[in-house]
Amino acid sequence: PAEVEAYRKKHEVTVMGEDVPAPFMSFEAAGFPPEVLKELLKAGFQAPSPIQAQSWPIVMQQKDVVAVAKTGSGKTLGYLVPSFIHLQNHKNNSRMGPTVLVLAPTRELATQIEDECVKFTKSSKISSTCLYGGAPKGPQIRDIERGADIVIATPGRLNDLLETKKVSLGQVSYLVLDEADRMLDMGFEPQIRKILKEIPPKRQTLMYTATWPKEVRKMAGDFLKNPVQVNIGNTDL
Ligand code: ADP
Ligand code: MG
Repeated sequence: PAEVEAYRKKHEVTVMGEDVPAPFMSFEAAGFPPEVLKELLKAGFQAPSPIQAQSWPIVMQQKDVVAVAKTGSGKTLGYLVPSFIHLQNHKNNSRMGPTVLVLAPTRELATQIEDECVKFTKSSKISSTCLYGGAPKGPQIRDIERGADIVIATPGRLNDLLETKKVSLGQVSYLVLDEADRMLDMGFEPQIRKILKEIPPKRQTLMYTATWPKEVRKMAGDFLKNPVQVNIGNTDL
């Protein structure tokens, strides 16, 4: 409809894929669980950012998604909010590993994602933890054993814990590659490939990136199934 076209034009939203749903132009339109909606409104946000508005309905259809939007455009909640809904439908009582796995390039970014996650899950039963190098493994292992639903990890530390069988990824059904371009720039591709071998193929895979160079395209081609792509602005970078 004209309203959808107007929104996409105004916010420079480009979509590629089959049967792409209309963007959620307001938080209320998304049909989120009340506790999630409450936190979004409490944060003082006016409306979903364009990458959220267009990627949320696609992710909620359980499709694989490539989302390309510049830094600061709200990509974190783009994948976190639908992960909360995914968790309601994918109960996993394993104390050896999470349902939702987010890979991020650095300790700093992983920590920021975890902070955002905690902020929006305060009033729910969802638990999360962050795994990164340069810190003792003991407390991280204890958090896994307590049954964290969401694990946010840097590839190096996660591989370490996989090799020593401190974590299992056999229950992961929602996988996010955040800052995919930076992870590849930092040389994490072999680590990411090793990690992905541990995750069952029956899963939803999302890739969020600020740029879309050929290395990232290649990885998307290798790991995502029939993805829908959403670009915001000029992402021919
Ligand atoms: P990116 O991952 O694209 O670089 P972030 O997810 O880190 O961006 O978000 C950047 C900032 O915008 C964060 O402080 C976040 O809380 C805020 N933010 C997220 N969604 C919205 C929104 N819908 N409206 C206003 N601010 C938002
Ligand atoms: Mg980000």
